[in-house]
Amino acid sequence: MTSTDIGPADHNTALPSINPATQEVIGTHVIADDTAVAAAVAKARAAATTWGALSFDERRTHLLRWASTLVRHSDTFCELIHTENGKPIDDAYLELSLALEHIAWAAKNAKKVLGAQKIAPGVLMSNFSARLEYRPLGVVGVIGPWNYPVYTPNGSIAYALAAGNTVVFKPSEYGTSVGNYLAETFAEANPELPEGVFSTVNGYGATGAALVRADVDKIAFTGSTATGKRIMAAAAEKLTPVLLECGGKDAVIVAADADITAAADAVAWGATANSGQTCAGVERVYVERAVSDAFVAEVERILRGIEPGSGDKAAYGPMTMPSQIDIVRHHIENALKNGGTAVFGGPESVKAPFIEPVVLVDVDEDSEAVREETFGPTITIRTVDSVEEAVRLSNNSAYGLSSAVYSKKNGLDIARALRVGATSVNSVLAFAAIPGLPFGGVGDSGIGRIHGAPGLLEFARPHSIAVQRFAIPGMALLSYTRTDTTMKLLRGIVSFLHGRHK
Ligand code: NAD
Repeated sequence: MTSTDIGPADHNTALPSINPATQEVIGTHVIADDTAVAAAVAKARAAATTWGALSFDERRTHLLRWASTLVRHSDTFCELIHTENGKPIDDAYLELSLALEHIAWAAKNAKKVLGAQKIAPGVLMSNFSARLEYRPLGVVGVIGPWNYPVYTPNGSIAYALAAGNTVVFKPSEYGTSVGNYLAETFAEANPELPEGVFSTVNGYGATGAALVRADVDKIAFTGSTATGKRIMAAAAEKLTPVLLECGGKDAVIVAADADITAAADAVAWGATANSGQTCAGVERVYVERAVSDAFVAEVERILRGIEPGSGDKAAYGPMTMPSQIDIVRHHIENALKNGGTAVFGGPESVKAPFIEPVVLVDVDEDSEAVREETFGPTITIRTVDSVEEAVRLSNNSAYGLSSAVYSKKNGLDIARALRVGATSVNSVLAFAAIPGLPFGGVGDSGIGRIHGAPGLLEFARPHSIAVQRFAIPGMALLSYTRTDTTMKLLRGIVSFLHGRHK
């Protein structure tokens, strides 16, 4: 991915929202400069006093009301997602459904994960009671990408809100109308809340950079690794903590004992759905030799019926970000130059703004199509001699977001050998649809986790409280009144507790 520029100079005040299939302008948004971003953050900070003071049950009510409002408006919303992002309406609905699952999970589980807990004080401190409580951080700045403009930023927004923070969201410049719709429906669902609980600031990279510099307590970023690095460097100025959900180059391992039909079906979909613009989409496949020919033939058979377009029946839509088209074309050409073969499609499949499916085999493992995020409806398939080789090649990547394994007998064992944040066994992308499972990567794929209990803990500050219930005569350890008898007693207790193990 390359769109890490601060923003085009010719769009200083207004950001057009463009239909990627037709290039038609469907809306215009005012760009937030540093002053506007600071004002939005100040409003969010004021609102944080009210929102952060609500009980978990009260916040749950507000979040679930928001979810229901989104369901009521789902036809309008999915039409907007389709128009601004390009994905078919059914895909927009699927994306919304998954986002709703996450809103509900965060709303319903925040109390269990972040509610006050009693902690055993230990023998030495047995005259104390100990509590672990979680406080909201305050204001969370969320910066989102365009490929899943609802689901992806929502993994931070809903969880940050459920943990009691207010949110200022900078949607992608390719998903601004959708991002604003999220905040508008939250306000519509909750008219009694002060302004600023969940708001947006619109613009290009410069607006995102202003949000990073603003008075926020955490930045939750989803986007490319290059931008993630810039954000982390900028956030370091104020020691603002960051959550970074970045790119991937996900591999699928197809073992000799796999259900080949199911594996081919999942790979064909996982590589091309959403035009391949999925951070955890299938980009590489390693298949064992015994089943390789049958697998490749089945993938080709399925893809013969798959066509992109902007109509209702299209399998997937146009490329959302025009500059990505050249990157995909370059990866295909480079793979062919480096000894690869296109067994399905090829450079001619790039018909901007659409790209038809492309299957590349025997591509050099050092070529860009294997090492860098392509983010298009293409896959590389390599035949391997063993599962061990497949694991080694899968792990030989700067990225480590997610992965999938197809094997009837050894799926779990193979999954455990992969250096990634998530793995689906006998499926692709399933972990992303299970709200209780955390999502995030290692290496260039980022830092931290969205979703599940870790996704709530990202947006809370642990506050440890130790309360002395009574004083133990002669055992004042944390005091200058400590005596030799106290120390003798301490030595005896410590020897008993920790000195008995041979
Ligand atoms: P991008 O990095 O170009 O932009 C992401 C966001 O960052 C946009 O809102 C952009 O305006 C903003 N931005 C750009 N420069 C900035 C700066 N200097 N300071 C602050 N903000 C800045 O990414 P993209 O093209 O929108 O999204 C696609 C990328 O996102 C892919 O790499 C994909 O893998 C990744 N992604 C990751 C996940 C995940 O959960 N790991 C999910 C979806 C997408």
